[in-house]
Amino acid sequence: MQQMALDTLGAYFGYTSFRPGQDRMVDAILAGRDALGVMPTGAGKSICYQVPALMLPGITFVVSPLLSLMEDQTRALLAAGARPSYLNSSLTPAQQNTVLKRAREGRYQLMYVAPERLLEPRFLAFAQEAAGSAGIGVPLVAIDEAHCVSQWGQDFRPAYLQIREFIDSLPQRPIVAAFTATATERVRADIQQMLGLQNPATVVTGFDRKNLYFGCEEMGDKAKTAWVRDYVIAHSSESGIVYCSTRKTVDALAGELAEALGPSGIRVGRYHAGMGNDARRQSQRAFIDDDIQVMVATNAFGMGIDKPNVRYVIHNNVPESIEAYYQEAGRAGRDGDPASCYLLWNGNDFRMRRFLIDRGDAADEALDDEQRAWALQNRYRLLSQMEGYCNTTGCLREYMLRYFGDEAAAEHAAASTGGTAADDVESCGNCSNCLTQFEVEDVTDMARAAVRYVATRPMRFGKSLIADVLHGGNTERIRQMHLDEDRGYGELSSESVGRIKDIIGQLCGRGYLATSQGQYPVVGLGPRAVEVEDEAFAFTVKRRASKRKASARAR
Ligand code: ADP
Ligand code: ZN
Repeated sequence: MQQMALDTLGAYFGYTSFRPGQDRMVDAILAGRDALGVMPTGAGKSICYQVPALMLPGITFVVSPLLSLMEDQTRALLAAGARPSYLNSSLTPAQQNTVLKRAREGRYQLMYVAPERLLEPRFLAFAQEAAGSAGIGVPLVAIDEAHCVSQWGQDFRPAYLQIREFIDSLPQRPIVAAFTATATERVRADIQQMLGLQNPATVVTGFDRKNLYFGCEEMGDKAKTAWVRDYVIAHSSESGIVYCSTRKTVDALAGELAEALGPSGIRVGRYHAGMGNDARRQSQRAFIDDDIQVMVATNAFGMGIDKPNVRYVIHNNVPESIEAYYQEAGRAGRDGDPASCYLLWNGNDFRMRRFLIDRGDAADEALDDEQRAWALQNRYRLLSQMEGYCNTTGCLREYMLRYFGDEAAAEHAAASTGGTAADDVESCGNCSNCLTQFEVEDVTDMARAAVRYVATRPMRFGKSLIADVLHGGNTERIRQMHLDEDRGYGELSSESVGRIKDIIGQLCGRGYLATSQGQYPVVGLGPRAVEVEDEAFAFTVKRRASKRKASARAR
């Protein structure tokens, strides 16, 4: 690490050292190399481009989709003695003119800019002029939330596809550094390709947030409200966020909580996109200043806010994807002290999510038909991973880390409590599944029967029909399609259909089977299907030893 970079870090930000990963990103950029930083929320991505931007001559463009983040960061950098600026639709045309004029005079070290702006003629002309001028120069383009360029991710933004064109149109190619908190392999590859990163230094820092406890509980809607209320009362001195999937639920829950908690002096805030700008800003401010303890909000809340002492994040509804969940839950415990994340769910949540997917969202209007169909399928896929999280009896942390491709950390989570060596009895010791007693049951025969049946009918039927056939059901559909003549029909007649479905679900989750996307998913073979023919193949499932109580353990 260059001493100058450390000096810059100290001079502007007051920190004495880089965090793991930050140093490698800064080094790569200063060496003139493209870079891709995959770091979880709170890891400190902004330092990675801000430090080089403050060291390199010229103006660094930071592409960001978040207006509030642009403003916050600009304010913070200004306070630190840097020369930042931003250009977005919240500025009046006159203000925008002023910013561009000053930028032409070489007054800024950084400029935050929305992706939609890049190819706008006036901005583009300025950028080209700056990049080509000996006096100014554009040493670096940093791209925040880079996963928005990928249609595999949850937040695809067509405007991100313009970034590459923008970069290619500059007379001198700048260094390009991309950042994201979303790390699946597919999205990563997409970022590299769609942004045209050239042999980037790729830094993936651990996604494991050891100080976070993860809890996941299935319960009815009424029980959820009671659970949240009890939890907030028991943690009245702490700061927390309760996420809901719709504005309506936010309003209803915030109302109920305010009524129940008012007498105890706990103040409840509310935040969603249906509120006016001022009301939202006020609400956010009050939360950051600890004037309100608990914030009930939709996912509109939290982007770009950096409050270190959030002690709990409760999801009152199921989020759209594991990415979304990990990001939102990850707003807890940014100071590194223990914090808790709970997901309360039930079947209604998944119905609501499917409804929201089918309805599409406003951003979809920018997509063409093919992109829209793709986005829909993709959202179903993301949701099914979330369903897997809710239903797994394995370690919750491991499930998420594996999803993000953080294999090493997942192995570690699995191994950290030692003890049992069986490959599907894993434990981080700090999630609700690891702390629950499960009975282990050998269902190898059922698993084999299910995989073998699917092998004869790959990608033909959904879970329910397969379970019906294996159970030996006498339904009209089975008769009509002559499935009662199939090999495997009735092979599991002593098991209930529900149980067989459950096993099929777990086979999908562990890669022996796989489901297609879409509203009516069909089941096919997974990459591990061949293993079931091994003599050594064993498949066990876990069941909670005692029926869990909804409000069992609020920590
Ligand atoms: P991200 O964008 O990855 O979510 P931020 O850039 O907002 O994360 O940084 C998260 C927090 O960590 C901020 O409060 C930031 O000031 C702090 N931080 C970042 N880098 C360092 C460092 N090297 N030393 C100490 N604190 C840091
Ligand atoms: Zn665990």
